Amino acid sequence: MAIRYMCRHCETEVGSIPFESAKETLNLLKKMDTVDDEQFLKYDKDGSVMVQCICEQCEQSLRSYPEYYMLNKWLQ
Ligand SMILES: [Zn+2]
Repeated sequence: MAIRYMCRHCETEVGSIPFESAKETLNLLKKMDTVDDEQFLKYDKDGSVMVQCICEQCEQSLRSYPEYYMLNKWLQ
């Protein structure tokens, strides 16, 4: 099992961290303060945790087009 970081804009896998149990992971994530809202967490069929984040590429384009980001955020 692993925590998988997926870009929520283009669904690219940004990275993954192996872990022993989901409970352990949630505690870890809470400690790291990576996730402040559980709506960004998804559970995969095999028990992996998917964390929705943003990849470098999308981050750059969002910096270039903040209007798009605001619109996208508002629509969610
Ligand atoms: Zn992306």
